[in-house]
Amino acid sequence: MKLILFGPPGSGKGTQASLLSKKNKIPHLSTGDILRSKLEDNDSLAKDLSQIISGGNLVADSIINPIVTEKLLSTDCKNGFILDGYPRNKSQSNFLIDFLANKNLDIDLIIDFKADINTVKQRILERSKIENRSDDNLEVIKTRLDKYFSETQPITAVFKQKFKEKFLEINAIQEITKIQYEIENRLKNA
Ligand code: ADP
Repeated sequence: MKLILFGPPGSGKGTQASLLSKKNKIPHLSTGDILRSKLEDNDSLAKDLSQIISGGNLVADSIINPIVTEKLLSTDCKNGFILDGYPRNKSQSNFLIDFLANKNLDIDLIIDFKADINTVKQRILERSKIENRSDDNLEVIKTRLDKYFSETQPITAVFKQKFKEKFLEINAIQEITKIQYEIENRLKNA
């Protein structure tokens, strides 16, 4: 099963990705998690990444594209994957669409988590009290949300158009279990 998730920070897509990953035994590829794990390397790339991520900005496509394709082609992903946090802009979107076509990888479902800016801002602030992420403060949250609504949201329209039959919009303001139920129902018929 191959899934792509879209949604602003705080929309709960990470939570659903992790539930889906356990249930279907397919890896959850969160580009945010992958990049954060690279910070532990303590090399010069880690220093650059740390600056970019803690400022809420996007890492260069030349860094993220090969990271994603290497993962997608790895044996871990032979039964599928849940892509979370990628693509995030027009050029990543073009790159991924070409890559999937070239490798004959058919996406089963694209899920778009819809949530308004005020709800997600509130949720991220709550989360920041529990987790200790350098990018969960008000100013950086604003940058991340601006980036999502200006760069990522427009490409969801491209995917919606291109993969009409495989596109599910979810009201992400609902309870976790309700969202889970809606996704599972749709996957049964995918
Ligand atoms: P968020 O909840 O803000 O969406 P993520 O954990 O998905 O957070 O990502 C954290 C940070 O990692 C982003 O703000 C960005 O700096 C970097 N990042 C993640 N995915 C990508 C990507 N596809 N392209 C560029 N940068 C990315």
